[in-house]
Amino acid sequence: MPLFEKVLIANRGEIALRIQRACRELGIKTVVVHSTADTEAKYVRLADESVCIGPAPSRESYLNIQAIIAAAEVTDAEAIHPGYGFLAENADFAERVERSGFTFIGPTPEVIRMMGDKVAAKRAMIAAGVPCVPGSEGALADDPKEIVRAARAVGYPVIIKASGGGGGRGMRVVHTEAALIHAVHTTRSEAAAAFGNPEVYMEKFLENPRHIEIQIMADHHGNVIHLGERDCSMQRRHQKVLEEAPAPHITEKLRDRVGARCAEACKKIGYRGAGTIEFLYENGEFYFIEMNTRIQVEHPVTELITGLDIIQEQIRVASGERLRLRQKDVRFKGHAIECRINAEDPFCFTPSPGRILAWHMPGGPGIRVDSHAYASYVVPPHYDSMIGKIISYGDTREQAIARMTIALSEMVVEGILTNIPLHRKLMRDTHFRDGGTSIHYLEAMLADEV
Ligand code: ADP
Repeated sequence: MPLFEKVLIANRGEIALRIQRACRELGIKTVVVHSTADTEAKYVRLADESVCIGPAPSRESYLNIQAIIAAAEVTDAEAIHPGYGFLAENADFAERVERSGFTFIGPTPEVIRMMGDKVAAKRAMIAAGVPCVPGSEGALADDPKEIVRAARAVGYPVIIKASGGGGGRGMRVVHTEAALIHAVHTTRSEAAAAFGNPEVYMEKFLENPRHIEIQIMADHHGNVIHLGERDCSMQRRHQKVLEEAPAPHITEKLRDRVGARCAEACKKIGYRGAGTIEFLYENGEFYFIEMNTRIQVEHPVTELITGLDIIQEQIRVASGERLRLRQKDVRFKGHAIECRINAEDPFCFTPSPGRILAWHMPGGPGIRVDSHAYASYVVPPHYDSMIGKIISYGDTREQAIARMTIALSEMVVEGILTNIPLHRKLMRDTHFRDGGTSIHYLEAMLADEV
């Protein structure tokens, strides 16, 4: 079956450029949609075609379903790649794309919808045999007595989470019974206001976990493989800062076991395309927290240790091709680290948009730079502050760290502030160098500085 002739990229920034490169290598023409704030971006000029879909605010451009579908119609695109963020996990968008006669490069709307509802997602994962964080059975009822009973059964501390939550919002930790009912009420009303869904559920609050996730790839013919794990524990306010693959100190046996369980679960729910199953990992155990039904920012670390191009694989399976690899053909080799480069103050984290005056990127063996930025590029204030990613690869974790250290020392970005100094500091940090720090490590490290 032939691949697509033309793919529309419904995103911006580094991922729009990344998808464009994957399409070009496959001989596919690209259409990039953009807002008025991104008209001058180099990747917009590099695309075969571009369509301005609205003004700078995302609501009126990158989230404007009608405008994106219209752009696909006028350019005769066959498929739409949503990237990450924006509409990537919006089931209504996926549905509209398909109903308008285009291929959505991603899972079915039904699966996106189910995984977007965390209570439903957890139920599906339990049914598929994936270990989950102990907690309430489904959503919490309104009856305070039942809530108290559920919390006693789980054991304090517990975390109250919104079923429709995302992006690290809609969660509250509760340490004592006295604080429980109030916390449930507050989370419920916040969730109703923020996500239009008052449903909340309860989980055991794990005190010192790591964040480890499994990359999945599935075709439309029922074949599913896993591409191993990534450690994304270096977080600030639940936002990932640095990721690596493989996860330090995870044995091959454990990887194979959890990976196989995830692949099996995806087969059961009829998953297709690329996806990530996120876990908290504590005391040798994996606990499912959520599934992301899209490509992730940190996919390059998996690409470097497997030698695969995950975006190309997404496009291939969306076009109907079968997976070319079986599980036993997937080989893990070496170690990769990704540093997210953000336009922000490195220590107080306020965004720092504006014109980049000088821009020198690193290179050399084992260094990959995924960025749409360049000297004289203006970082718009309207979107996420990430302006690129530096990914290092080495035979060992030590070599990947050494190469990243050199890369960061070579990098020059002037005119705006970036978090490069924070990454330089992390590369020197003894706990990071040992590997296996928990999701609280970075915030504790930052707090120690003040
Ligand atoms: P979101 O969709 O908002 O990212 P997640 O369920 O993935 O929500 O959780 C985000 C982060 O919140 C996790 O990476 C972890 O840091 C923290 N978290 C979530 N659930 C728990 C839990 N049961 N115990 C401890 N921390 C948790």
